[in-house]
Amino acid sequence: MFDPRDYILLDQIDKDGPQSYSRMYSISPAELDRIEIVNIGPVALTANANKGNVPAEYLVDGTSRFTADLACSRCLEPTPFASSSSFHLRFHPRPELPQQEDEELEIAPEELDVEFYIERAISLRDLALEQIQLSIPMKPLCDENCLGLCPYCGANRNRETCACETSIVGERWGALSEIQQAMKKRES
Ligand SMILES: [Zn+2]
Ligand SMILES: [Zn+2]
Repeated sequence: MFDPRDYILLDQIDKDGPQSYSRMYSISPAELDRIEIVNIGPVALTANANKGNVPAEYLVDGTSRFTADLACSRCLEPTPFASSSSFHLRFHPRPELPQQEDEELEIAPEELDVEFYIERAISLRDLALEQIQLSIPMKPLCDENCLGLCPYCGANRNRETCACETSIVGERWGALSEIQQAMKKRES
C-alpha cells in the first residue's frame, strides 16, 4: 500500500524543487505506546521540504495539530488536550560507517534537530507520530491543583474526602504521645 503522497520523495525535490504536503492521519493510542493516552483524534500534518545548504541535506518545516484525551497523572481522569506545534528538521544521509560510541554521545547542540534518512523517501506519517510524542507532556494534569487519588483507599480527592489521612495522622500522634510519656517516666 505504498502511496507516494505519504512520503517526502527526495529525488522529486532534486528534480522539481521545493514540495508542499498536507496530510491527515488516524493514529491509534496503541501505536504511540504511552499509557496516558486514552483517545487521540486524527493528526493534521503540513510540511514544506527543500534542499539544504550542504550536499544531500534536506530541510523540512511543518506543523502538526491534533486533539486527545490524556489521563491525568495524579487522578487518572481523562482530560482534553489540544496541540498545535511547528517543527524544523534537517535531514542528512545516515553515515555509512558505524560510529564509535564516544562520537555518538557527543552531539553538538546545533545538531540536535538533525535526523538521518536511509531511503530517499521520508514517511510523513512517521513525522506525525514523532511530533505527537514530542507534544504530549510527560505528566499530564487535569488541573495543576489536582489533589490526586488517596494512596490508601483510591478515592479521587478532587471529588470526595475520605477518612484515611486523618486516621493515619491520629495514629502517628498517638504513637508520639506514647513516646513522650515513656520519656517523661524515664526522666522522673
Ligand atoms: Zn487530576
Ligand atoms: Zn482514602
